[in-house]
Amino acid sequence: MSQRMPAIFFGHGNPMNALLQNLYTQRWAAIGAKLTRPKAILCISAHWYIEDAAVTVSTAPKTIHDFGGFPRELYQVQYPAPGDTGLAARVLKLLAPIPVRSDERWGLDHGTWSILCHVYPKADVPVVQLSIDETQPPSFHHEIGKRLAPLRDEGVLIVGSGNVVHNLHAYAWGRHAQEPYEWAVSFEQRVRELLVANDAKPIVNYENQLGSEAMLAVPTPDHYLPLLYVIGTRTASEAVTFPVEGVDGGSISMLAVQVG
Ligand code: ZN
Repeated sequence: MSQRMPAIFFGHGNPMNALLQNLYTQRWAAIGAKLTRPKAILCISAHWYIEDAAVTVSTAPKTIHDFGGFPRELYQVQYPAPGDTGLAARVLKLLAPIPVRSDERWGLDHGTWSILCHVYPKADVPVVQLSIDETQPPSFHHEIGKRLAPLRDEGVLIVGSGNVVHNLHAYAWGRHAQEPYEWAVSFEQRVRELLVANDAKPIVNYENQLGSEAMLAVPTPDHYLPLLYVIGTRTASEAVTFPVEGVDGGSISMLAVQVG
């Protein structure tokens, strides 16, 4: 049996991080350098938020530039990691009888490649994406994480890519520095405390249990839900660490959460 791999939630933030070298991207690179090399990566990205559960089965997933209004350079980024049909089949099996569609059209979106181009810059670890079924409640996504947990003993790195706090309405796109908003800091802090205490319930039931700040921090579920997959894989005795910290533009938490 392979050594148990960690599961990691990354705060991806601005797509431009793919091209930049900053404190966040340096930390991402350091994570890749430190980890045992995985056999494959299963990534749950905020940017594949669709009406059903689907898994990528292409052997050569294309790099998807799923954003608008960024410099041309960003559209030229390619992340040519291979797919892994064996891992996709394993995901179907672990999640059965939940129906999961095999998808040939999607590839790797920027939630995946803007992080992995720093973690594994050679793009030589196979990557499979699992969609987030937007029709399902938060508890469903946590449950899927639980069912995926055995993959960690099979050499697979489970990655969630989103942001614990993600409010683009309040985000400072300009170059001026924006101090983190109080509600952003406070919501992130609450989630951190619950993670350290391994108290998943309020994190899953954030809409009802984490107060009015949750409405500002998580105005839409897409960037938050990948965290629930990652913590779903956690055992009772496993520690959690925060290898990347910071709030970007006032309202985007760049927090990374590593389980195991
Ligand atoms: Zn995003």
